[in-house]
Amino acid sequence: MKKPISVRTGSNLTKVRAENLSVVLDALRKLQPISRADLAEATALTSATITYLVDELLELGLIEEHKATSKQVGRRPTLLTLRGAAGKIVGLEVSRSMVRGILTDLGGKILKRMELAHRLEGGVDETLSLVHKVIQTLLEGEGRPVGIGVGIPGPVDTAGGVVMEPTNFVHGWRNVPLGPLLAQRWGVPVWLDDDAKTAALGERWYGAGQGVENLLYVSLRSGVGAGLIVRDRLYRGTHELAGEIGHTTINVDGPRCGCGNHGCAETYVSVPAIVEYARSQGLRVADPQSIQNLALLEDPVAVAVKQRTYHYLAAVLVNAVNHYDPDLIILGGTLVRAWPDLCAQVSEKVRGRSFGFLSKDVRIIPAQLGEHSAALGAVALVVEQVIRNPKLVQNAPVPDYSVA
Ligand SMILES: [Zn+2]
Repeated sequence: MKKPISVRTGSNLTKVRAENLSVVLDALRKLQPISRADLAEATALTSATITYLVDELLELGLIEEHKATSKQVGRRPTLLTLRGAAGKIVGLEVSRSMVRGILTDLGGKILKRMELAHRLEGGVDETLSLVHKVIQTLLEGEGRPVGIGVGIPGPVDTAGGVVMEPTNFVHGWRNVPLGPLLAQRWGVPVWLDDDAKTAALGERWYGAGQGVENLLYVSLRSGVGAGLIVRDRLYRGTHELAGEIGHTTINVDGPRCGCGNHGCAETYVSVPAIVEYARSQGLRVADPQSIQNLALLEDPVAVAVKQRTYHYLAAVLVNAVNHYDPDLIILGGTLVRAWPDLCAQVSEKVRGRSFGFLSKDVRIIPAQLGEHSAALGAVALVVEQVIRNPKLVQNAPVPDYSVA
């Protein structure tokens, strides 16, 4: 029977128990170290329920107890923390030029890293063999990981683990079932998402966005993408296209973009567009770093190229502020790393262009995790699944990736 969209579903007792287990684990991850009493207060569950659920999580080996180090006389409360050693996770980022992998514990602590240069011209098979090589190196001498997370240029069908048809990520990358292929080869569950979305998640969990519920991460490199986190959850949209900020129109009469639209943000503020414009102005440059080097020598053309970029980028962000009203905007990617004054300059322009009540509180800051944002976010994709279903750490089943 087709379910009408307005019908809510009920919870039977087994589901309630599983949901409460997930609620406790999520609260514990965010508030750790925390006592049972504080956990009960934070989750609005009774102390009896908390005792029962904490026992189950202790039995699964997902959390551990510590005696609080208090100098006060009397009984010291026992504090609970997530047990990092409970499992290991592989986080990968597959970009146009690099396959980057990290092995972390369940707490997101990086234990190993590995990266290989990558060229798209080799096709899907060459990229896949590099991905396998990175995973193999990371897992050498390690046990079976809880799962593998992947950040890759979108759009991505996250339910089926399929890379759909990334713009500028050609050479056979159309409807590639990367999730099922990796799950089959490594025998563990795999989750993947658009790299800007995983980078948003990475910064939210481990970087510049910690403690912020509503944030927008914008990635500025060969493409321009974004990840929107609303009430602490990634917002993906109906067709998983939310965040395609690079294809929002900032000049209705602007140049035609690869997507078919005119005057997209990507035709002004993506790295290839900036470099192409700089060259059209007579600069012999190949990347944003060389533009920066010239600007530092006060080359007026290089300075003007940067200012032009900030002008258009401010327009992109003013639109974003008016659409989403986030607490925080995090800017990441190669452009932000090459131009250290970018965030400050763009913040000032945004403030001058949006209504006072909106511009007042919006903070625009650089990403903190550098090149690891997307891979750490891929790790967070897996940890999210563990929080939803804590039993994954014990018996990680290969997900059903049967694609119709
Ligand atoms: Zn476009």
